[in-house]
Amino acid sequence: MNNIIDGVGASLTLKKNIKKEIGKNNLTPSLAVIQVGDNKASSIYVRNKQKACEEVGISFNHIKLPDTISENVVISEIKRLNEDISVNGILVQLPLPSNFDTPTIINEISPLKDVDGLTYQNVGNLVLENECLVSCTPTGVMELLKMYNVSLSGKNVCVVGRSNLVGKPLIQLLLQEDATVSICHSKSKNIKDYTKKADVLIVAAGHPNLITKDMVKEGVVVIDVGINRENDSLCGDVSFDEVSKKASLITPVPGGVGPMTVACLLKNVVKAYRVQNRK
Ligand code: NAP
Repeated sequence: MNNIIDGVGASLTLKKNIKKEIGKNNLTPSLAVIQVGDNKASSIYVRNKQKACEEVGISFNHIKLPDTISENVVISEIKRLNEDISVNGILVQLPLPSNFDTPTIINEISPLKDVDGLTYQNVGNLVLENECLVSCTPTGVMELLKMYNVSLSGKNVCVVGRSNLVGKPLIQLLLQEDATVSICHSKSKNIKDYTKKADVLIVAAGHPNLITKDMVKEGVVVIDVGINRENDSLCGDVSFDEVSKKASLITPVPGGVGPMTVACLLKNVVKAYRVQNRK
């Protein structure tokens, strides 16, 4: 089918451009990732980030701490990395163990090095449309829409999910492109009333088969952010087989938004490097 958005191809293009930018300008960007504990999924995500950094020429420092340490140890590590001028991006791999106060820890990261765009300062600057680092998955979604020439001005865009990581930053980015945005969440009544009006539907709920063919209009552009594990395989939040028959464009899972998230992390590290080295 030619209506399938190729997230892998798009991410390769983005990575090629980042590699070229680093090489041509002799940039020396570096990323430090702090991981607390041994969460299996987190270890896979960190490995993917390391591989992607190495591919484009970003130095990677994996700081792995046992989950027996106190919050203060993580905070001291962040403070050390904030001071280290050879480190341009700092990321704390989430989720942290449940006894850790995640917002307090995240907000210890210097906003200039916060490549996940999660500190209060970056979130506030996004709302105010000031220069800032923006969360990687929403940035990846916007890059995909741009690469596939999906115009957003005046369009009805429905976002399902309002998390700090995905839904909320996406709303701001879509508003900046003059879309008319509706937001659904777990307390929304009759989601279909909103999804059916959408020219572009973006789903980030973490709920397999949440969106079925009766919930979308003919020709809709569908971006499925969800990643769910079912019977040892991955699926998104959209019933792909049936919805893809009505969509003009649709992302698969895997191979849609996921690879773009990693590519946009690399983009953020280079952006952080450039801002920190601005004369
Ligand atoms: P999250 O923090 O759990 O947020 C989920 C959001 O979806 C919440 O706002 C929730 O509403 C809403 N929701 C849940 N069930 C719903 C339902 N039945 N109907 C309507 N809304 C519903 O999750 P997240 O971090 O945003 O991630 C969402 C999904 O995207 C997950 O599957 C995650 O694995 C995936 N993800 C993928 C990438 C990627 O790179 N592709 C990156 C990040 C996340 P309430 O606010 O009312 O609870």
